[in-house]
Amino acid sequence: MDFSTGTDRRLIESTARDVASEYGPEYWREKEREGEFAQGFWDELAEAGFHGLLVPEEYEGAGMGMQEMGLAMETLCAEGCGMAGTWYLVLTAGMAAVGITQNGTDEQKERYLPDIAAGERNFSIGITEAEAGTNTLNVQTHAERDGDEYVLNGSKAWITFSDRADDMIIVTRTTPREEVDRGVDGISLFVLDMDAPGIDVSPIPKHAINYSKSCEVFLEDVRVPEGNLLGEEDDGWWALVDMLNPERLGFSAAATGIGKLAADTAIQYANDREVFGAPIGTHQAVSFPITEAYARMETAALMREKAAWLYDQGEECGYETNVAKAVAVEAGIEAVKQSMQAFGGWGYAEEYDVERWWREINLTRLAPVSQQMAYNHIARQLGFPRSY
Ligand SMILES: Cc1cc2nc3c(=O)[nH]c(=O)nc-3n(C[C@H](O)[C@H](O)[C@H](O)COP(=O)(O)OP(=O)(O)OC[C@H]3O[C@@H](n4cnc5c(N)ncnc54)[C@H](O)[C@@H]3O)c2cc1C
Repeated sequence: MDFSTGTDRRLIESTARDVASEYGPEYWREKEREGEFAQGFWDELAEAGFHGLLVPEEYEGAGMGMQEMGLAMETLCAEGCGMAGTWYLVLTAGMAAVGITQNGTDEQKERYLPDIAAGERNFSIGITEAEAGTNTLNVQTHAERDGDEYVLNGSKAWITFSDRADDMIIVTRTTPREEVDRGVDGISLFVLDMDAPGIDVSPIPKHAINYSKSCEVFLEDVRVPEGNLLGEEDDGWWALVDMLNPERLGFSAAATGIGKLAADTAIQYANDREVFGAPIGTHQAVSFPITEAYARMETAALMREKAAWLYDQGEECGYETNVAKAVAVEAGIEAVKQSMQAFGGWGYAEEYDVERWWREINLTRLAPVSQQMAYNHIARQLGFPRSY
């Protein structure tokens, strides 16, 4: 790993700062309140080249890696966008770009990647179902071959952007779990055109991040051409795994980014706000908890860089990725919690944003992998018996 700040990294950081300065907390307060998709921000990310960071150069992207993507996400989050800095990149520019680059046919790469890089195609990722959250292998949505098409039936839950996405990478079973030796067999991925007949989408009212919708998706006899199979039939699990590490790294960047944003805002406030005749920041009871969380976030960000570096080298990185995700979330949540404390009662007011960042960062405990499951993976690597 090289810790020097190369030109590319400096450019990514400064570009992300510029974007975030235009789309800061007030913009997101409004979008959250209105429950409105931030098309202006999405287009700006395209303009800045962020949708194409992971897309290979031959498909009109920048051909960069997860180290650069993590840096872009963390900077966007930390410099004013909060969760949106990761949220608007992780599914399409992160997971879909990676999934199609690594497992797509030449025809699929031609069809999707240049549009992703240009910000002209929005993907959702359909993994979760009512009975398949943490236990992904339990997916029941099935795809049956019929001539040169597949017919999909089932339902998905919590699928972000599915109300407006052009396509969904959907996880299905092509062979029931009872008929395969290993649970990971019998899974197939498709790129599903969201305009196909038989798809019904219903948003789930939610706690935060209302500048995008997360929805239930019902599929009834939805026909998908065989050319939309992503990876091999019955062997899609590994194509899915290729997309999960970038997602976890994206959430790791979100956790440290939101945490730093809250902490920086609280530090400013702690310098300005005087109680008992002195700025509250002079009290170590106020400054130390935020400082300690900051130190932990810096360490977590380094672990993300290591995991991303391994990922970019094509090396095994599951252990490092789960460590990076788990520690970033704990440090980031502590930073936001302590920042809210520094604001006193005003931390509860919408106008100071910290209450929104608190709602946003709490998602990182639950998804895309819960803290318990991240620790389960780490524990297994350390030699504990498998618990799931
Ligand atoms: C806002 C939001 C957006 C989302 N967007 C998407 C999306 O775009 N696409 C998508 O596919 N999914 C999405 N999800 C779904 C998310 O990934 C799942 O909610 C998550 O995987 C957890 O699944 P579950 O809710 O069914 O929890 P469950 O699987 O029911 O688990 C419940 C609890 O039990 C714990 N638990 C279960 N088994 C174990 C064990 N062996 N050891 C320890 N603890 C255990 C879990 O950690 C969790 O805390 C989204 C969720 C939310 C809230």
